[in-house]
Amino acid sequence: PDEREVLTWELFGLAARELAQEVADSGYRPDIILSIARGGLFVAGALGYALDVKNLHVMNVEFYTGVGERLALPVMLPPVPNVVDLSGQKVLVADDVADTGATLKLVRDFCGEYVADVRCAVVYEKPQSEVRCEYVWRRTPLWINFPWSTQPPVVPNASVLDA
Ligand code: 5GP
Repeated sequence: PDEREVLTWELFGLAARELAQEVADSGYRPDIILSIARGGLFVAGALGYALDVKNLHVMNVEFYTGVGERLALPVMLPPVPNVVDLSGQKVLVADDVADTGATLKLVRDFCGEYVADVRCAVVYEKPQSEVRCEYVWRRTPLWINFPWSTQPPVVPNASVLDA
């Protein structure tokens, strides 16, 4: 039950290159990469370099509060991207994982009719996801440990607190 899928920083480097290759091989040339903060920022940055796309946007969506614990619905947090920036563009949405898929569905629906095309790229997709992503590196039913969120936030060390 507590078996995990573990993504190391090193493996993430390979995953990002292989995911970018999938996008390139499909013939899709995105104008904009829309990352879902915070996990999607790492993926979007790596895909931006690998696909030579410099136009990166960020959307903040809050859903999970802990391992397997989530809110009733994903919530968009401000600032919300301006639809004018997205209109008529070919968008590539980048995220770490499609789990229930509710986050990506929200973002896809938000892009709605404004964009020319919207496709999703994720490192992992789980079998239950309601969104079928166009670009997926690996599929797993397990909880994933990502290199950026496995360790707890740093705390100031004692010498700083004493000062
Ligand atoms: P969804 O809306 O698809 O259920 O969840 C999307 C977000 O939930 C992900 O971007 C990620 O932040 C978080 N999440 C979902 N599943 C996992 C997981 O297995 N491991 C980690 N670390 N985060 C997850």
